[in-house]
Amino acid sequence: MRILVQKFGGTSLSTPEAREHAIKHIRRALEEQYALVVVVSAMGRRGEPYATDTLLGLIDANGGSLASRERDLLMACGETISAATLCAMLQSRGLDAIALTGAQAGIETTSEFGNARITDIRTERLLAILKEGKIAIVTGFQGAAPNGDVTTLGRGGSDTSATALGAALKAEYVDIFTDVEGVLTADPRIVGDAKPLDQVSYMEICNMANNGAKVIHPRAVEVAMEADIPVRIRSTFSDGLGTLVAGQSVLRGKGHVQDRLITGIAHSVNVSQIQVHAAEGQYDLQLRVFKTMAENGISVDLINVNPSGVAYTVYDTETERAIGLLKRLGYEPQAVKDCTKVSVIGGGMNGVPGVMAMIIEALTEEEVGILQSADSNTTIWVLVRSADTVKAVNALHRKFQLHA
Ligand code: ADP
Ligand code: MG
Repeated sequence: MRILVQKFGGTSLSTPEAREHAIKHIRRALEEQYALVVVVSAMGRRGEPYATDTLLGLIDANGGSLASRERDLLMACGETISAATLCAMLQSRGLDAIALTGAQAGIETTSEFGNARITDIRTERLLAILKEGKIAIVTGFQGAAPNGDVTTLGRGGSDTSATALGAALKAEYVDIFTDVEGVLTADPRIVGDAKPLDQVSYMEICNMANNGAKVIHPRAVEVAMEADIPVRIRSTFSDGLGTLVAGQSVLRGKGHVQDRLITGIAHSVNVSQIQVHAAEGQYDLQLRVFKTMAENGISVDLINVNPSGVAYTVYDTETERAIGLLKRLGYEPQAVKDCTKVSVIGGGMNGVPGVMAMIIEALTEEEVGILQSADSNTTIWVLVRSADTVKAVNALHRKFQLHA
């Protein structure tokens, strides 16, 4: 059996017209003789009637507090509505489809409500359905805890449902259908001429997703990478093949230009920079600062430790708490709120001289101040004020000639 997993995101299912496009892709897969598992997200985005955020609004409108177990029960409804609706459209066209919840599809998870992890997928039932020639429609974003409780997988969880099902079923491909033509060289909402990439490696897309390019959830990529299942990120609204995500060896076989200098520019917003300067004799400042952050569950990023003190970033939502803790330790921390971390990503930059110089040149030309920077062998990060985000990302995109 050649199995294909297709996942349709919220905007790909939000209107009858959008669902018609999805059905076109389903029909095509059937024509290509695939046994088909279709994973669905909740329809639409915040504000639309069946979107997850809208459903959550019911809690605020009815008292405001709900235990995480019952919250998951509510959050899982959006996908259920979506699966039943798509199933109705397929059945009324004479296509043999069956809709399944995560639990019915055999998806077992931990019992961390709101952020559960998939532990196993029992594939017997799904395989039996596929053998009968039926289309299995599975609700994304959810599973069942060991005691049978409904759990949800956290933001972007439907992507992970899809790749985990693909891995368990040894699918030929997992197709992630969304509202853009694939992985682009930058977020198309802020870079008008961002270019779709034909192919990216698991590592490249993981880096982009982890740094804010949420076209696919990073966890979903990890799951696909572990099982070595190729993923195609494609548009529901076109016939394009989108971006092929696979391992280096597969891509090289397909003529992938290995290690291009820069793959793309990603950014993530809403972080604050915190700096603490060491006074005379404060030799243990570095240790005390990071120990305190860790003990209080504040996650830190862009860490810079030097003899005269430390600089690092936290999410804006944690800034006040972090500052309070540092003052209690007797320090005088300084914070710059409302910053954006811009990431220049590319497997080929390792050891290539001049990339940092180009970054500084691009930002200086646009008079964008760099608050801090850091680098690894595949990524250079610069921290800028959020007001400079659009200018900074576009300047870097231009400097590295990533446009279409
Ligand atoms: P879905 O509902 O289909 O899961 P998402 O909103 O989660 O869709 O992801 C698709 C969106 O990701 C696109 O509409 C785009 O605005 C955004 N995005 C951010 N960075 C990138 C990028 N580098 N390439 C493609 N899309 C990106
Ligand atoms: Mg998504």
